[in-house]
This record gives sequence, C-alpha cells and structure tokens, in this order.
Amino acid sequence: MKRLRMEIYGAVQGVGFRPFVYRLADSFDITGWVCNAAAGVILEVEGEEAVLRRFGEAVEKEKPALSIIQDVTREYLDPVGYTGFEIRTSTGGERRVLVLPDISTCDDCLEEIMDPENRRYRYPFTNCTNCGPRYSIINSIPYDRPATTMSGFHMCRKCLSEYEDPSNRRFHAQPNACPECGPHIELLDRNGKILAERDEALRRTASAILDGKIVAVKGLGGFHLIALASSDKVVQLLRKRKGRKTKPFALMFPSSDMISSFCEVSEMEKNLLKSPESPIVLLRKRIDHGSSNKLSGYISPGNPDLGVMLPYTPLHHLLLQEIGDPVVATSGNLSDEPICTDEKEALRRLSGLADLFLIHNRPIARHVDDSIVRVVDGREMVLRRARGYAPLPVRMNKKSDVILATGAHLKNTLALSIGNNVFVSQHIGDMETPQAVKAYKEVWSSIELLYHAKPKKIIHDMHPDYISTKYAVESGLPAFPVQHHVAHVCSCMLDNELSPPLLGVSWDGTGYGTDGTIWGGEFFKIGEEFIERVAHMRVFRLPGGEKAVREPRRSALGLLSEIFDDPDRYIPSDVFMKEELTVLKRMLKNNLNSPYSSSMGRLFDVVSSMLGLCQTNEFEGQAAMLLEYAAAGVETDDSYNLLLDRSEGKPWILDWESLINDIIEDITIGEKASMISARFHNALAEGIVSVAELMGEKEVVLSGGCFQNVYLAERTANMLRRKGFTPVLHWKIPPNDGGIAPGQIFAAVNLYKNE
Ligand code: ZN
Ligand code: ZN
Ligand code: FE
Repeated sequence: MKRLRMEIYGAVQGVGFRPFVYRLADSFDITGWVCNAAAGVILEVEGEEAVLRRFGEAVEKEKPALSIIQDVTREYLDPVGYTGFEIRTSTGGERRVLVLPDISTCDDCLEEIMDPENRRYRYPFTNCTNCGPRYSIINSIPYDRPATTMSGFHMCRKCLSEYEDPSNRRFHAQPNACPECGPHIELLDRNGKILAERDEALRRTASAILDGKIVAVKGLGGFHLIALASSDKVVQLLRKRKGRKTKPFALMFPSSDMISSFCEVSEMEKNLLKSPESPIVLLRKRIDHGSSNKLSGYISPGNPDLGVMLPYTPLHHLLLQEIGDPVVATSGNLSDEPICTDEKEALRRLSGLADLFLIHNRPIARHVDDSIVRVVDGREMVLRRARGYAPLPVRMNKKSDVILATGAHLKNTLALSIGNNVFVSQHIGDMETPQAVKAYKEVWSSIELLYHAKPKKIIHDMHPDYISTKYAVESGLPAFPVQHHVAHVCSCMLDNELSPPLLGVSWDGTGYGTDGTIWGGEFFKIGEEFIERVAHMRVFRLPGGEKAVREPRRSALGLLSEIFDDPDRYIPSDVFMKEELTVLKRMLKNNLNSPYSSSMGRLFDVVSSMLGLCQTNEFEGQAAMLLEYAAAGVETDDSYNLLLDRSEGKPWILDWESLINDIIEDITIGEKASMISARFHNALAEGIVSVAELMGEKEVVLSGGCFQNVYLAERTANMLRRKGFTPVLHWKIPPNDGGIAPGQIFAAVNLYKNE
C-alpha cells in the first residue's frame, strides 16, 4: 500500500476538477481526498502502487474538458489509512491558479433553457461548471463567489444544494443562478424608463428588432448593438449612427446550419464557431446562396468575407431563437472607442445609437470584446484576442521575472509575465480616445491585481510618442524599449514555441525604426541573443507623415516621385485637387514632413491607389484589404519583378522599382485589377523566398499585420515549403499589433540579456 500526493497547477478551478477526481477515485475504488488550494488542486489517494500509478495517469488524461494542466507533481508516501473519499475545504497559500476566460453555453445548459419543464426554462443567466462567465465577472482571485460580480445575489435553497453537491454539474459553479435568485433582464427606453422585465423584455426586444429597431444589448463582456441583418434601411441607419461607412459589421446567426447557407464553412471553421471560445469567424461568402435577400449588402460592402458568430450566452440563444434570422451584432460604442459595459454609461454614450436598451443587473467586471479568428493555411489564426481566450497565458520556454509590457498604439493589449506564463490582456483597442486610455489604465491595474504581481520592469515600444511608451516611462520602474518589428517576430516565436536561429519576416503598416526611418517591410536574422536586420523594402517618402497612413494616394505620390518627375501621371487623374497636388509635390521636393519608410503596408496602399481601389482609408488597412480582395479567386503563378539588391551589403534592399514599372505597363494595356493584384502578391511571396534562400535558416517566421492577408500568407507559406523551408504563421497571438505586448516580453527575456 502507498499514498500518492499530487499537486496540479493550471486552469483547474471552476472547471469541475474536484468532482471529476471524486468520481475517478470512486471508479478506482481508492480512498483519500481532494481540495482546492490557492496554487491549484491538491489530492491524496491510497491504494496499491500500480493502481495509484494508473489513477495518476487517468487524472491527466481524462481531465475535465475546460481544464488546462500546466504542471503536476507526484509524490509516493507512506499510507495514513484514509477511509472513504472526500472533497475537503479549500486551503490558502501562494496563488498560482489560472483565471479562466468566459465560456460559451454548454449543450446541457442549452437543453435546460429550452425545456418548458425545467426550472431554468428561458432563463438568460443559466450556467454550470462547464460553461458561463468567468473573466468578465471576476474581481479578484481565488475564484469564489464573493470575489465575483455575483456576490450581491444570494443563492436560493435549490441553487445552493446544486452548488454543494459533488455529483452535480453545478458543484461550485460560482455564477450559479436561477430565475428565483439570480440576475434578470429589463428593457429600457432611451430615458432609462423600464418598458418590460424578464421574459416579456426578451420577447419585446425580439419584436422590436424584427420591426427594424436598433437595440443596445448588455451581454457578457459589454454591450452589442443588435439590428436586423436583412434590412438595407436598418443597416444603413446603423452605419449612419455609428459613423462607420464601410467597415464590416459582425453577424450573429441563430444556428450553424443557417451560416452554411450564406457562407462556405469548412469542418475546422464549424468547430471554431461551436467552440467554447465561440469567436467571430471570418468566412467566405457563398456566391451561390439562394437566400440572397436575407442579408443586406451593406454589412460588408466590397468584401468577400463575413464575420459571423453563434450565440454564446443563454440570453443570445433565446434572443436569436425568438428572432429566427441573422442579426448584426456590433460592439456597443462610437466608432473606435472601447465597448461599453455599464447600463448608466450605455444610456449616456449610446443614446444616439440605440432605440432601446436590453440590460441586466449582473455587473460586468471588465470589458471583453468578441474575439476574431480565421483559418489561414489550414490552421486557426486569432486576429483579435479577447473573449474566450483572455486571460489565458501563453507558455514561454524560459522563466522570467514579473515583467509588464505596454504594447503598441493601435489594437493595443498588455502582457504580464510570471515565471513561464505570459498573460496577454484582452483587446483594448486604438489608444486614440480618452475612453481607450481609461480602459488601458483599468486593464493595467486589474491584471496586476488579478495575479497579485508587481512588475520589476516594464517593456515598451521604441516610439517616443506612443501613449503606451509614456506610461511605461512614467511608471517609475526600470523601462526598456523593444523595436516594434522585432516584437512582432518575437510574438510569433512565443506563439509557436520557437527558438533561434531563424529568419523573421515582419511586415506591417508602420513602426518606429532605429535608423530614423519608419519601418514596416523588415527581415531579421534572430540568433542566440542577437538580432540583425538583414533586409528591408526599399524606402520611399510619405508626404505628410501620419496623414499618409489615412491616405493611400499620398503614399502613391511619394513612391512614384522616387522614380518619376511626373509621379501623378500614374495615379487616377481625379484623385487630387490641383492645389493639393502642388502642396504635396512641394513637400516632397523640399523634404518637408515627408519621412522615409520601408513599410509594406504603405506599398500595398500605393498599388491600391494606382489601381483606383482606395484613396482614403476609413479604417486601418482598408486599402490593403481591398487589394487582397481583388485577387480573391484568381489562380496564377505570374508575378512581377521584385529585385533583391545586395550591392551595398546588409541590410539588403528589396527593390520595388521594376515591380512598379510592370504594374504601370499592365494598367496601360488594360489588365484587370484582379490579375495585377495576384501578380503583386506573388511577387512579394517570391521576394521572401529569395531572402530566405540566401539566409539559409530553415524556419521562416511570418509576422506583422500584412500576414492577416490570406492570399499573401498562404502563397508565401506554400512557396517556402516547396523550397524546403518551414514557414511559421501566427496562431493564438495576433499577427497584428495586438501581439506586440507578448512579443515585447519574449524579446526582453530571450534576446536582450543585459537589461
Ligand atoms: Zn453549462
Ligand atoms: Zn436559485
Ligand atoms: Fe505592427
């Protein structure tokens, strides 16, 4: 006889781990106990050593679906003579347990809310140990009811008995609730007057939406604006009110079958839609769908994709079932502000946007947006990491001190490292509004509070003017910069558990370079504790600097002026007014506010402008996206010449001059934009292969916002594979600036030894 003691670390609380161990011990017919400790789950069992060994293996293998085991310790000791098996009260100690993300409604709960005989029939806050809110309701850890926003609700007798019964699916389900004791919904008008409560509120909301009203709905991590997706009038009204001309809206569908009638859905995409994370999945629109009158063309104009999701809370399930049609479900905010979380704030901030407000009285502890993923090169790629993913950590190969990274400027996130874990915050957004800055500060203090961690140093972007840099420097802690594009490559290394040496390709819009130019088309050799910029795109000037980010036509003028005296000849004639052109040309000639840039994003802008696809960006990356979409469905291996100039030594220069000349020739002979776009993309992929071949590193990391472009990412990956390289794309950390913060930490820990 022996006694086995196991300590299990990771996401092991609030996922039904103890009842699972209880049942497992029962089936092995062994005695002992299990309990939650601050650091994880501890258990002891007694029996024959061989049985204990098999039991230990079974714990790890058959663990509850939502649990994540990061570490397990096992110790074989002398038996003490346990009789029976018990779940013991939680103990204290060092806090190591992971906070779980919010999890979409499980099938069992769904069945209950649809069952007229069940006491939770049509109850919008039904949840259990396998599903429901977590991160969005936690104020502090350990994760117990008093530490959540459910603390104000007292469980009724029935709920409490479920909560205390180890054999029940709701054993220690902290947000457990029912119609008798839990939160409820209310429908308000713009003045905050209550129009209806509970089920009547739900039914009236559904009929208002079917009537063409726009309703602000308080969900899990914030408000959505929900409106009928089939009506052009409604969608246009929503665009007008939100101040959003063409940026696509996300959709929520009542069922995945209905999604399949509008979009191409692969097996992997279907699994993502139905996953516990339940993100927005970008899917290709079906050209052949017979029910074209069911979706307004204003949802994602000029875009071959739709961003779709399934209901992920009981409230959304019930609402969508009642409506029976797809709805627009866009975040409840004005253009680029963070999502609104509180009903008082919503009535103030969204009163011009929504006709009605469907609210509830379960407070939201922090804003958590819908995540966005797409399948690229046969694998999931997270483009916006928030609900369902945050705040789970990414594991790092090396242990680190407590370090905080403050991220970039757009699509900002924060990251905090403790030991081997890099915790990535939920998406915060563009740091351009006071609301975003406020949200940023809140996430910063809450991430430290949640993990009881005080950073020893701070990592920030090199850009001196970023707000994220300012806060890092003002924190009073030792602060160190990491170059933006190095951080991109590092985020992909962290995401894929890679170690040097390798070649990193970092292509995006803009980032502060170390040589006085704006970078964005970079190649790095990453070695053990060194980084070398081995190649980059040829630079050109951006008249007006930041303004060129908004106006692709400026980039076009800047680039073309590098090779022509009459650059505007190659841009559609109606793009500039005469005076504008004179001013911009003078700026370029006198080198006034016209910084040089090697940005790949800006090169996309140039081509997009030359083809007349986009002259002014409404949102980041729009011109590049339109160029990508132009190539959708084109199959060709044709490309343009992108020459690698090695005459001056490293960094080598990828020179676009002949590529641009080829494009001008194609435009002149009337070649279709789709073909020109495909050839352009192909040339870029070949450019990467040519650098990779000369560098000789087997692994080629593809990072930066440009690799959200499916055509570019897949074309490059395929070409690299064909030549014997291993292309590595992003996975759970976004390739865009949402990945900068974790990348900064990886860089600080792995590449810069002496800081
Ligand atoms: Zn459930
Ligand atoms: Zn109850
Ligand atoms: Fe970037």
